[in-house]
Amino acid sequence: MKIAVLPGDGIGKEIIAETLKVLGRLGLKFEFEEAPVGGAGYEASGHPLPQKTLALAKQADAILFGSVGDPKYDNLESSRRPEQAILGLRKELALFANLRPAQDYEELADASSLRPEVVAGLDILIVRELTGDIYFGEPKGIRQHATGGREGFDTMRYTEAEIRRIARVAFEAARKRGKKVCSVDKANVLETSRLWREIVTQESKQFGDIELSHMYVDNCAMQLVRNPKQFDVIVTGNLFGDILSDEASMLTGSIGMLPSASLDANNKGLYEPIHGSAPDIAGKGVANPLATILSAALMLRHSLNQGAAAQRLERAVKQTLRDGYRTADIYTAGTRKVSTAEMAKAVAERL
Ligand code: NAD
Repeated sequence: MKIAVLPGDGIGKEIIAETLKVLGRLGLKFEFEEAPVGGAGYEASGHPLPQKTLALAKQADAILFGSVGDPKYDNLESSRRPEQAILGLRKELALFANLRPAQDYEELADASSLRPEVVAGLDILIVRELTGDIYFGEPKGIRQHATGGREGFDTMRYTEAEIRRIARVAFEAARKRGKKVCSVDKANVLETSRLWREIVTQESKQFGDIELSHMYVDNCAMQLVRNPKQFDVIVTGNLFGDILSDEASMLTGSIGMLPSASLDANNKGLYEPIHGSAPDIAGKGVANPLATILSAALMLRHSLNQGAAAQRLERAVKQTLRDGYRTADIYTAGTRKVSTAEMAKAVAERL
């Protein structure tokens, strides 16, 4: 099992190093090969996604990704900015399906900003389309406007085929869970969303056992904090999914708890925490490594066919929380505050 390891920037380096130690305890044969990406890629070769890094990602069985971004690159032209690396990898590897599970850990109910009874037992899967929408749509840019001054513009686009394939991923995922899909759009305003709704509805005919509902994105943002347990699988486009999944992360207590999988049509995938490089805490040894460790569990399950090992890892994380270990982001009185390395060590010991 060859894993391309791309730690990236900021806390990415810390959480990936600890995750590799945890994976080492599973007793499986991994071949890890590391390469720079993001700001680190720019420093190494003048590009956030160096050719060698991309080649490694293409030939590996799976990619374990930390996070990219650092304020010191804010003034680079946009194609050189660290964040372009992740967009480039998604596009080059055709990683169109982003799975973001948000699960409530009863041990962390107090860390959520919502009342425990609102989040207890929560189990949502957000399926976000990842290679289309306004993030990639052309034309885009900043130009002179006839009325004087400049205007910025981006283009929201989705083809029928793109909508159909992400809808299928959502329906298939729902089949293995609560059998409900809520498709989120802004069909009251956007043409793209009208097509989205029409195609998702068409596709649902192939999945008679799944209950499909539609919701406007503004309402969904509200429902996620009002009554999040009404959702099973949420399927949505790139932009709405980006925002809603960050919102959903707070239901579980911290953005430091949420893993993600980005899959191609053959289940090859890139696995990363949903958070960024957290420059405010980078280098301090306090970042929560659990989102990355749980991303590694998704990697074992979806790309490496190691479901049992994935479950062992997820159980070890749960047990670590049950035993009271907390990084600063999920710390509450009466628990034990630990560093990034101590948290990972506790998980490894429980394996
Ligand atoms: P962020 O997710 O890095 O941080 C948001 C807040 O959450 C910060 O207060 C941070 O300290 C905290 N946080 C994040 N991860 C944590 C963890 N594991 N443990 C404890 N606390 C954690 O988002 P941001 O500050 O908006 O962005 C910082 C940089 O990351 C930017 O350059 C941004 O572009 C980049 N970014 C990259 C990715 C990616 O690599 N896929 C995703 C999002 C943002």
